[in-house]
Amino acid sequence: MSAHLLRLFCLAWLLCLPAPALAWLEVTEQTQPLGRHLSLLSTPEPIGLEAAIRARQAGAFQPSPHAVPRLGIGAAAHWLYLPLINPSDQPLRRTLQLGKAWIDQLNIHLLSDGRVLHRVKAGDGQLQGLQATPGMDYLLTLELPPGRSELYVQAHSGDPLILPVRLLSDSDLEHARTSTQYGYGALYGFMLALMAYNLMLYAGLKDRNNLNYSLYLAAFILLNLSYTGHAGTWLWPDSLLLKRYANPALMSAVAWLGLHFARHFLDLDAHAPRLARAVSRGATASVLLLLPCIAFDWHATALWLAFASVLIYTLLMVVLGVISLRRGRLAARYFLAATLCGMLGTALTDLSVWGLLPFTELTYRAVDIGIALEATLLALALAYQMRQHQHARRQAESLARTDPLTGLLNRRAFLEQGNALWSTTRRHAQPLALIMFDLDHFKDINDRHGHDTGDSCLIATARLLTQQCRTGDLLARWGGEEFLLLLPNTSLDEALVLAERLRQAIAGLSLHGRDAPLTPSASFGVVSREQQPHLEQLINTADERLYQAKQDGRNRVCGPQASYG
Ligand code: GH3
Ligand code: MG
Ligand code: MG
Repeated sequence: MSAHLLRLFCLAWLLCLPAPALAWLEVTEQTQPLGRHLSLLSTPEPIGLEAAIRARQAGAFQPSPHAVPRLGIGAAAHWLYLPLINPSDQPLRRTLQLGKAWIDQLNIHLLSDGRVLHRVKAGDGQLQGLQATPGMDYLLTLELPPGRSELYVQAHSGDPLILPVRLLSDSDLEHARTSTQYGYGALYGFMLALMAYNLMLYAGLKDRNNLNYSLYLAAFILLNLSYTGHAGTWLWPDSLLLKRYANPALMSAVAWLGLHFARHFLDLDAHAPRLARAVSRGATASVLLLLPCIAFDWHATALWLAFASVLIYTLLMVVLGVISLRRGRLAARYFLAATLCGMLGTALTDLSVWGLLPFTELTYRAVDIGIALEATLLALALAYQMRQHQHARRQAESLARTDPLTGLLNRRAFLEQGNALWSTTRRHAQPLALIMFDLDHFKDINDRHGHDTGDSCLIATARLLTQQCRTGDLLARWGGEEFLLLLPNTSLDEALVLAERLRQAIAGLSLHGRDAPLTPSASFGVVSREQQPHLEQLINTADERLYQAKQDGRNRVCGPQASYG
């Protein structure tokens, strides 16, 4: 940019804006961002230090309205100016904490009496120069001479130009370092543990939700490592391409994996298949669009795309949560609470960076807290869903084992449990008896009083059985109106007594028929294990005796000798 153009540019500023009167900042204990003491100059092209000094002297710099200057994505080059006073008569050592780790170029100059005392290049746009300290952004130790000195910083980046400036004493720095290390240690430790646990759950249970959730967490952890400067230092210190594109690529990956998780977790394919397909296609398209941006180095486009994806993704997660909740999916409650926590954390950090909320460690790290809460609630959502699945499976298993009308065992379950009981009682040489009974003239009951009355009769009979039998006895509905009782530790005589008691109890039932009272009765076959090698044979013998009881006139018990009733 020629000097002539620069003069014109500065003149335009002068005419449009009143010259700011900026107070000199007395360097004492200061840990807050110093945005209110800064003034800024935006230039369409980067200009040198001398031109910046002239522009400032001409009043072209404007005070920063915020505690943390936030100049947007793909902003023009900016100069920052901070006038300082060291009130002591000794040089003061301070650490300048500057910017965000992702900023491409920072040219830092400390001047005193027009002399440049420090001149340092920093930024992740080049491999030389000062690199960011993980989690702490750019740290530069300055010796501030007694009296006045001036800090000029030129910042230039395709990434969001957010420029917190702090001057930290040694103890402030130590404190900031410790809290940063504990803070990130806790965050990453927690998230990695959640991720590892869900991977293990996936290995054991093969539930895709656990895998999707782990991948989402992995992308989120990588994104956080990337934008805080941890990844640039530890994982890709020598890759300019990754320093430039890891943030937008990982933002898109988080959005894609988050929506992929939501699609399966909320079972959108079953509830809203068209929405599920649209969401997946949109998310995939936004990832694919990023590829030409990286290939052709369209940095600003890649960033806008990534920010738009994350914004749409966050809103979509809430919308999907609401839709699923309205369609009765209870696990969506946790999901919705989780996404709202993530959103709230992000909003708090945004507002503090904008200057609408106090910029404190807590408000700045609200996004991390929000995301940790989101991750926790999503883990709870998965646990809740797992519990629901278990409950449904247990119900299905129990339904497969019991007769739905009477609640007694069905034929299959009876044979399963009966054979086990057969073996254990035989091993311990314990007696085993079996009673089979069948309601008499049940067809007539149905015909005369209706099928519902028939059902009530079956239910009442089953209730009687459960009341009269012992806990270890197996009670089953063997057929339509035919019941089986397998009685461990019961002799033939005891079984005959029980059968007689049941016969009388059934005959004593008084049920309401269609228009007349109804008294059912039943015929019993009783048998105990003697020579039979299998349970099936015992059942056959009981069936024969039941047939005998029917032949002998019904409403009676038939044992080995004869029937009575
Ligand atoms: P018997 O004294 O010889 O046993 O005569 P019965 O009428 O009881 O025997 P049958 O085998 O001729 O008829 C059984 C009837 O039980 C026919 C069938 O409709 C009825 N039944 C079977 N299952 C159910 C059920 O779940 N509910 C009702 N209400 N009736 C059933
Ligand atoms: Mg019958
Ligand atoms: Mg029958």
